[in-house]
Amino acid sequence: MSDDEIPEFMPTYGVAEKIAEGVRRLTARNGGPLTFRGTNCYLLGEHEVTVIDPGPDDESHVSDLLAAVGAPIRRIVVTHDHADHAGAARRLSELTGAEVIGAAPSPARPFYTPDRVLADGDTVATEPGGLRAIATPGHTANHLCYDLADSGLLFSGDHVMGWSTSVVVPPDGRMADYMASLDRLAAIGPRTYLPGHGDEVIDGLARVAELKRHREAREAAILRALDGGDRTVEDIVAAVYIGLDPSLAAAAALSVAAHADWLEERGLVRKVADRLSRL
Ligand SMILES: [Zn+2]
Repeated sequence: MSDDEIPEFMPTYGVAEKIAEGVRRLTARNGGPLTFRGTNCYLLGEHEVTVIDPGPDDESHVSDLLAAVGAPIRRIVVTHDHADHAGAARRLSELTGAEVIGAAPSPARPFYTPDRVLADGDTVATEPGGLRAIATPGHTANHLCYDLADSGLLFSGDHVMGWSTSVVVPPDGRMADYMASLDRLAAIGPRTYLPGHGDEVIDGLARVAELKRHREAREAAILRALDGGDRTVEDIVAAVYIGLDPSLAAAAALSVAAHADWLEERGLVRKVADRLSRL
């Protein structure tokens, strides 16, 4: 899927839609240019509930969650500490007594204060089965995906999304990590991905391969833009992202900067002040 082939996905806001046995999805009403239709919050279990990514710290969203859940919330599991995913964790925990578990906190986002941090391979028991954390840095340094045992389902957070490529923002995000984390998911084998934004991705392996090709093509385009001589990130964005929606220009510049860091790490590009050149 390319950036301009956005699939149909229209959630029913305020409703927890069943998407698999023991798994429901409630999409927050925070849609926008970087969040698509809004953040997907997943509810695991029917008698005692584990929430994966509670969503933004917004009173009406938390009310939606509490109205839809239908059973006590026991734990709140977080993929990464961006505010649209982890923002409501503390508020929801205070209202329900649920434990906040998952990605490590980072100084840049002090609102996120987990009770328990998971390392790669740690498993959380939930009603539908064990939820295994998979360290997938790249989008953020602390990003975790979660593999639900014996279900064929993998909660992919913002590492692999259902509508667009992930934004990799340096220095927290690193392109080298992001690419290695794509390989990491591929090594787990066939799964249906349930992402933080957009619809489910039935063939996760195909999507991972597509995302890798997309990044490789973008890198090749950046190198072509650099072939004529020194360039700034802004010059490269103008050359590579033709017809870009202006609201996404800042995100594009960050993505090019992330690619440039990775090229520099591999000795293919040199950065002096704000100018990049081929080596
Ligand atoms: Zn994010």
